[in-house]
Amino acid sequence: MSEDCIFCKIIAGKIPSAKVYESEKILAFLDIGPVNKGHTLVVPKTHYETVMDTPDRELVELALAVKNISAALHTALKADGISVSQSNHRAAGQLVPHVHFHLIPRYKGDGFHHWPQGKYAEGEMERVRQDVAKFL
Ligand code: AMP
Ligand code: ZN
Repeated sequence: MSEDCIFCKIIAGKIPSAKVYESEKILAFLDIGPVNKGHTLVVPKTHYETVMDTPDRELVELALAVKNISAALHTALKADGISVSQSNHRAAGQLVPHVHFHLIPRYKGDGFHHWPQGKYAEGEMERVRQDVAKFL
């Protein structure tokens, strides 16, 4: 539990949330500012800041919850699709520093656009590929 973390307060029941799923290690609740109705956040009950800090066993459970809750949203809300989004650190748009997955029901023509696509200069893609691959 992190004292000043809003999601830890939700998990501890100190502030209310609209829970859709709970297990020993995981909680899923509706985002208070939904992109579309039913927008759900899936979080581990233990406080980890980013996906990189999250232990494998919890990440596996999170992935399975993301799958099952996505299927439930798709059926229950007659969504045409589901977007799964996850940001790490402030530069990536993470406002709440408790790792979380956004599950967003999507509808044809709902107007929610993805980020713009850039371009690589000649040879740059291969240099970036090598830089990343050497850490894996
Ligand atoms: P992010 O920008 O990825 O860190 O997302 C944080 C999300 O938490 C935002 O989409 C907020 O709308 C949502 N949020 C913040 N406070 C609450 C709350 N009390 N209950 C539900 N969702 C919240
Ligand atoms: Zn927390």
